[in-house]
Amino acid sequence: MKNNIHFEHTNLGSVRIDPVPGAYAIEPMSDSYGRRINYLRISLTDACNLRCVYCMPEDMNFRPRHELMTDEELLLLVKVGASLGVNKVRLTGGEPTIRPNVVEIVREIARTPGIKDLAMTTNGLLLPKLAKPLAEAGLKRVNISIDTLDAEKFHRITRWGHIADLWRGIRAAEEAGLTPVKLNAVVVRNFNDGADMVELARLTLENDWDVRFIEMMPFGEITDFQQTNVVTYKEMRAQIESAFGPLEEASYDFVDPSRPFRIPGAMGTLGFISSVTEPFCQGCGRVRLTADGKLRLCLLRDDEVDLLTPLRAGASFEELRILMREGSFHKPWGHDLAHGLVAEKRSMNQIGG
Ligand code: SAM
Ligand code: SF4
Repeated sequence: MKNNIHFEHTNLGSVRIDPVPGAYAIEPMSDSYGRRINYLRISLTDACNLRCVYCMPEDMNFRPRHELMTDEELLLLVKVGASLGVNKVRLTGGEPTIRPNVVEIVREIARTPGIKDLAMTTNGLLLPKLAKPLAEAGLKRVNISIDTLDAEKFHRITRWGHIADLWRGIRAAEEAGLTPVKLNAVVVRNFNDGADMVELARLTLENDWDVRFIEMMPFGEITDFQQTNVVTYKEMRAQIESAFGPLEEASYDFVDPSRPFRIPGAMGTLGFISSVTEPFCQGCGRVRLTADGKLRLCLLRDDEVDLLTPLRAGASFEELRILMREGSFHKPWGHDLAHGLVAEKRSMNQIGG
């Protein structure tokens, strides 16, 4: 096995990379509940060019570079996943577009044997520069976060973002063919619920976009704020229906956490991601790779398998496969927020939403 692997010298010393692609037959992995695990969400960095109030504290400290996976390590772990049946990858963060070499990383993942779908969740600010090169490198779609159309509120919720930059990013994504564009809004009570949601929903009348409203989830140090200000799926839906009348159900992809609806006659769709009050664990085939190389088994639980430490200690490709497969097998069924169990070790930007 080790003959398939070569070593490269980086600022971190000698890092073993690149087992010959295709050298391993794809052996799909499942968890102990029989869910097929085929979707890897990768946090390219925990750092961000914004500080959204629901995501991280303002004085957030980011991890030093040496604790994060290098490009080579990340790409090796993607190959490990692909050899275990991972065929969908989403790049997230932190803000994935601020990772150096993001275009090259996309290009390499897109050409990894077995990877069929490659998407990104981004705040969109750097898309005017990056949308085209990312699309050319093999990125297929983007989800862009936008919590309100009100410029002053946008600035407040992101702590320093300018909504004009975001609009330029959305247009750039469309022009580059990173479609269908999905827009994500985390709904925070007394902040962007009510009228702000209605205006976001109105965008779907004349745009073929999917606007998704997300229940705020509790993580890390800011759980009091998150739990006090969560707006439930039922409340969100009632607020939208009070403006537009009953929503029509749109066709439902069982594996998508978003339940899709349509305002009658609208071009685009609306979705609700009810992770807190009505979780969708049954169809969850996701695991996450944090920027510091931990396989996170459920967004809302602290269970993780360290892959980076063994990798740096010289674990073989086969040993890494065993770690990933066995870790994934122990993926918990779902969260237990109803009994007060909150994932505390990391904030959202450190996990990759
Ligand atoms: N920076 C990128 C962005 O904002 O789209 C990607 C990373 S961000 C952590 C991924 C997604 O998580 C975004 O849609 C964001 O709105 C969402 N998010 C952040 N904190 C959240 C929370 N506490 N509950 C629910 N969603 C959250
Ligand atoms: Fe940054 Fe995204 Fe978190 Fe906002 S939600 S602070 S853009 S990582």
